[in-house]
Amino acid sequence: MKQRTLTILKPDTVARRNCGAVIARLEEEGFQILAAHMLRLSEDQAMAFYAVHKDKPFYRPLVEFMTSGPVWVMALERDSAVEHLRKVMGATDPAKAAPGTLRQQFASNIERNAIHGSDSPENARIELSFFFSAAELA
Ligand code: UDP
Ligand code: MG
Repeated sequence: MKQRTLTILKPDTVARRNCGAVIARLEEEGFQILAAHMLRLSEDQAMAFYAVHKDKPFYRPLVEFMTSGPVWVMALERDSAVEHLRKVMGATDPAKAAPGTLRQQFASNIERNAIHGSDSPENARIELSFFFSAAELA
C-alpha cells in the first residue's frame, strides 16, 4: 500500500554536492517526490525535530551540524515507504551500513550521515506535518 515518509538531505549532502545522486537513487527506488523545500533549520527547529534525543551526548553537536547549512526536506511516497527508505539509507553509522546503501556511499561519519528517514509510519506523519502543510501534501 502507498505510504508517505519524510526525508532530509542533511547539510553534508548539500555541501558535498551529493543531492543529485541521492535524489536519482530515491527515484530509481520508486519514490515519488510529493513536495520539497530547501531551507536552513533554525536552532529551535533542529532541537524540536530531534527532541527524542535530547538526553543523548550527541544531541548538541547534532543540532549544530543540522543547523550548519541548508538542507532539502522532502515528502516521499511509495509502497512501504518508511521501511524501504530505511533500507536504502542503511545503518546510522556508515561503517556498519550495508554495501550499496546511501549512507555507505555518501555519509562521512555517524553524525554526518547524509540523510534522514522517518523510523515509523506514526513518526512519518508527525515529521511530515513538521515541515509541510496539508495543502502541500494534498
Ligand atoms: N547521531 C550521532 N551520533 C550517534 C547516533 C546518532 O551523531 O551516536 C546522529 C546522526 O546524525 C543520526 C541522528 O543523530 O542520523 C539521529 O539518530 P538516530 O539514532 O535516530 O539515527 P537514524 O534514525 O538517523 O538512523
Ligand atoms: Mg532516527
